[in-house]
Amino acid sequence: MKALVLEDVLALSLRDVPIERDEVLGPQDVRIKIHTVGICGSDVHYYTHGRIADFVVRAPMILGHEASGTVIETGDLVTTLKVGDRVCMEPGIPDPNSRATRLGLYNIDPAVRFWATPPVHGILRPTVVHPAAFTFKLPDNVSFAQAAMVEPLAVGVHAATKAQIKPGDVAMVSGAGPIGLVTALAALAAGCARVFITDFDDTKLALAGSLSSAITALNAKADPLAQILKATENWGVEVVFECSGSSRAASGVFDVLAPGGRVVFVGIPSEPFPYDLGKAMVREARVEHIFRYAHVFPRCVGLLSSGAIDLKPLITRSFSFDDSIAAFKIAATAPKGQVKMQIEMPQ
Ligand code: ZN
Repeated sequence: MKALVLEDVLALSLRDVPIERDEVLGPQDVRIKIHTVGICGSDVHYYTHGRIADFVVRAPMILGHEASGTVIETGDLVTTLKVGDRVCMEPGIPDPNSRATRLGLYNIDPAVRFWATPPVHGILRPTVVHPAAFTFKLPDNVSFAQAAMVEPLAVGVHAATKAQIKPGDVAMVSGAGPIGLVTALAALAAGCARVFITDFDDTKLALAGSLSSAITALNAKADPLAQILKATENWGVEVVFECSGSSRAASGVFDVLAPGGRVVFVGIPSEPFPYDLGKAMVREARVEHIFRYAHVFPRCVGLLSSGAIDLKPLITRSFSFDDSIAAFKIAATAPKGQVKMQIEMPQ
């Protein structure tokens, strides 16, 4: 059971890790052979910094939480999945009895156990035991690679849901990284007529612009707010998705927001930041925040299967598991032009 283990900041190894939870298959669990794992910004951040906000890596931890695979064993009470099913997995397992879960807020259950969020191991390892309720069967036309993108797509779909997009809305997405791109695609799938997306990286912008004729990519250096106001006859956009996590971008979200517009904060800023409450008030802006997602994986699989969303162009590089340490070294340099790098497990 060789796994990719974060031993310490900037120290990875491929080694055996005994995982007690994986020994026992509960009656409602499935055992999954992992096929593809996406490298997430959070995995890279734990590798380079050893922490994200209050989540601190204090013991060796297996990385990875964006995954697809094949069911190889099912618990006695599992009726929805069978051996051989191709699946993707929702990485956060809430406590079913917690107050937050009972209120329908399972993604913000403080007791949630989320892969590769310390102290919980991730899934850059051969197999995992997971609740069937958080494991989703894939149609034949959704590849393992695209299925490993369902997790980031879920963030975009959750954000679009929170924005309550109406057909014909115009949106702006700040940040053209993987989350910004999936959010733009989710906003279009939810009915936006047009999405402006901003970033400093021209290669990411070129990719964004190639995804759909309804996406207008703008370099953040070239006063995108003025360009968007001009393009919307000074009305602004109905929805702003702040996906950059930059406090400068985040504090300016209302400048481009239409009256009655909605702002969804998606990117996590590294520092607290102020925003202009007065500008929010004169627009009667509705401000939403999201944390991960809840109950959207089946929708994401449906969007991929129908072709309403195509994530293939976002998958820019793939590595074998044996090369996964090299893959993280490359990812840590934030190479231009790379959007989503994935690791394929030995089958
Ligand atoms: Zn992720």
